[in-house]
Amino acid sequence: MMSPFTVAIDGPAAAGKGTISKAVAAHFDLAHLDTGLLYRAVGARMLQGEDPIAAAQNLVAGDLENTDLRTAAVAQAASKVAVIPEVRAALLDFQRAFARRSGGAVLDGRDIGTVICPQAEVKLFVTASAEVRAQRRLAELVANGFDTDFDTVLSDVKTRDDRDMTRADAPLRPAEDAVVIDTSELDVQAAIAAAIEAVSARKAT
Ligand code: C5P
Repeated sequence: MMSPFTVAIDGPAAAGKGTISKAVAAHFDLAHLDTGLLYRAVGARMLQGEDPIAAAQNLVAGDLENTDLRTAAVAQAASKVAVIPEVRAALLDFQRAFARRSGGAVLDGRDIGTVICPQAEVKLFVTASAEVRAQRRLAELVANGFDTDFDTVLSDVKTRDDRDMTRADAPLRPAEDAVVIDTSELDVQAAIAAAIEAVSARKAT
């Protein structure tokens, strides 16, 4: 059996983690888990009136296929439920098992390198200025038919970052040994190339 090989990719909202994670997973033939989806699924169930802790404890694969998980309302709800230690605890084992599955895995989120898999062979912290991230998120939302504007998206991104960075349990921060990739001035291809180079450097050692 192949030994585990984990790539942990953390960073704030809309920094490009999703795009980079998918590209890294495809390039190195690794499984990929977008851990934000777990919190979004719990947030969506809370918006439907369910207790978030019970929702996290009873989450099923089908919850991740809910097509509404990408909305701004669900993103805010996700960052609210993500503050609750019992919600985080309920999602821990699934993420840890995924991280150490044979064949290797890429996980992206906020606490992968710090809490979920501190032994990850590669840790990346993908970031960008709040303005650049808001601009990208706006383009994505408009392309998907949502009617919104730059100031609303910027304020949403900042509120969520603040909640993610200041919570007591598993706050968003780079692991000490993370490679920081600032994508503010990188296009998609350059950001992907930087991530692949960082993973290749670790695979070779
Ligand atoms: O990455 P995404 O924007 O989908 O994440 C939604 C929310 O889920 C984040 O704002 C954060 O509060 C929470 N989250 C987390 N830990 C993770 C992934 C996401 O707390 N590993």
